[in-house]
Amino acid sequence: MQDFSPSADVVGLYSCGPTVYSFPHLGNMRAYVFADVLRRALRWKGYPVRHVTNITDVGHAVADSDTGEDKLEVAAARERRSVEDIAAFYTKAFFDDLAALNVLPADEYPRATAYVPQMIEFAARLEERGVTYRLPSGLYFDTSKSPGYGTLAMMDVAGQREAARVDYVEGRKNKTDFALWRAEEPGVRRAMRWDSPWGWGAPGWHLECSVMSMALLGEHFDIHTGGVDHRELHHVNEIAQSEAYLDDGLPWVRYWLHNEFLVLNNAKIAKSSGPVPRLADLADAGYHPMAYRLFLLGGHYRSQLDFTTQAVDAAQATLRRLVTRVAPLRPLEPVTTLEEARALPGTSGAADGDKTAAGYVEQLDAAISADLATPKILATLQESLRDPDISTEGLRVVVAAADALLGLRLADLDPRDVDGRRSVSDLDAPEVEQIERLIADRTQARKERDWRRADEIRAELEKLGVQVTDTPSGPTWELR
Ligand SMILES: [Zn+2]
Repeated sequence: MQDFSPSADVVGLYSCGPTVYSFPHLGNMRAYVFADVLRRALRWKGYPVRHVTNITDVGHAVADSDTGEDKLEVAAARERRSVEDIAAFYTKAFFDDLAALNVLPADEYPRATAYVPQMIEFAARLEERGVTYRLPSGLYFDTSKSPGYGTLAMMDVAGQREAARVDYVEGRKNKTDFALWRAEEPGVRRAMRWDSPWGWGAPGWHLECSVMSMALLGEHFDIHTGGVDHRELHHVNEIAQSEAYLDDGLPWVRYWLHNEFLVLNNAKIAKSSGPVPRLADLADAGYHPMAYRLFLLGGHYRSQLDFTTQAVDAAQATLRRLVTRVAPLRPLEPVTTLEEARALPGTSGAADGDKTAAGYVEQLDAAISADLATPKILATLQESLRDPDISTEGLRVVVAAADALLGLRLADLDPRDVDGRRSVSDLDAPEVEQIERLIADRTQARKERDWRRADEIRAELEKLGVQVTDTPSGPTWELR
């Protein structure tokens, strides 16, 4: 971050988005929280950002291969719905998760199906440049014509990569070559199909990101992000075709940032939806979405993170403590940039400024500048909240500044919302017995006109999150 300077007035930021054929799982969402922190970091430094995240609604074949069925078509057949319905449904699910995780909305969410004519033009230019060849199965990019192919992945193109590829394509010249256009097989009519110089068919998956990013951010832009799984195939291929297309001797994109995986070590939370849980599963288990965000930020984006019940429990407890501690400080100062944080009364260099608070703001800046060290930002925030020497005014600025980077909704999250609304079915038998015994005691106290005792019991029930309502047929209760 210290070395970063944008190439234009606005930083162009492109994040590879989801293929909308199933619910996004927790691991998928890590990529978008990471990109969101990057975007917040750029904003903190005062750079205007234009952020684009694509929606892949065509072109992504099963197993990331060049042949075979499209993931959207498979899902449509499985769910007996149209491909458009599938795309719309899972796009909404993705947006719901982004909102729940407090990810700042991108400026554009282009859909691949809206850019097919541009993809055909792009592939046609590559064909003119002589870096492609035709096969009955479509148009292929010849990676032997791409100098430096695979540099991003630091891979041994000749060996490891050929072994890694599983799909076999008749006539392909090099095993790393990939489809720009996937032609329909004779006698097979795809659900999603376009006419092209290479016959009816659909674009290859890698093509869309090159085309949509250039259309919306310009031919060259600053930063491209994605999961580390894209580093070895998808991004390598995006670079190869884009640099062949531009043919200007410049690197297509200046910075590539990849987030590591989430490792699932625990089956408990997973049981409701198969092997990999979704954000909704966490919510059903009583965890707040911000607890998941906090869990992610507790690790560095370039490190694998172990997802365990203990870890997410700890994150939920930390969130609860943070929000409870911060709530009395509200309203927080409106801060999104370092410059604003430095200028606010609680921190400004003037004699009445708070040197302690100003010091914390500089620590936050050093942490975000050191390759987005979110664990350090969390630690600094917690330290400031325990510091007896900081003024309340200064603390308001530090908390707001930390949250401008972390995005944990510290300015507005209600402490009562953190633990969510549990339902009675989440309680075990002894808990239900305890509640019903207290209610019976309260009824008895009221009968005896012992109002003080009745109020005490009511307060005790409230602590347990139980709301009692007196009806003509006796008291009923529910969880708040
Ligand atoms: Zn992509």
